Amino acid sequence: MDHAFQLAEEGLQAREVPVGCIMLYKERVIASSRNTVNDTKNAVRHAEINCIDQVIEWCKANNEDMLKVFQEIEVFVTVEPCIMCCAALRSLSVSHVTYGCNNDRFGGCGTVLNVHNHKGFFEKELKITSGIRKEEAVELLKNFYRGENPNAPFPKVKKEASS
Ligand SMILES: [Zn+2]
Repeated sequence: MDHAFQLAEEGLQAREVPVGCIMLYKERVIASSRNTVNDTKNAVRHAEINCIDQVIEWCKANNEDMLKVFQEIEVFVTVEPCIMCCAALRSLSVSHVTYGCNNDRFGGCGTVLNVHNHKGFFEKELKITSGIRKEEAVELLKNFYRGENPNAPFPKVKKEASS
């Protein structure tokens, strides 16, 4: 979780929504990232999606079966995955998600929508642990939205982001 928070902190410095994520496979970190939505001008580049891409790359490089690896992946993320990310994590059947604070606007692990145990669509239930160092995670988000950030609080309204 320390590592995830470091990445979130880095995101704050880079004027991204401060969310950090790492993915563990057999106790080894094989993916780590923060949000890069503003960097890349791509609204889906959430920390979790970046990590998913890294896991896929890792599997290719190590000749591992991606579908099997994802089933053993443990995710640590500072903020509750959004609906998009939670659906992605579920459809890849990751084993466990641990997150910091709730995502009140877009949370997919129960806060807004219950993507994580939506029966009938996904076979396996996703284990969730929440509230780990949540005050710290909230503080980072507050710093971001309070800060003199030209991209906050609605990064998407920036002209060049849509053109
Ligand atoms: Zn997301």
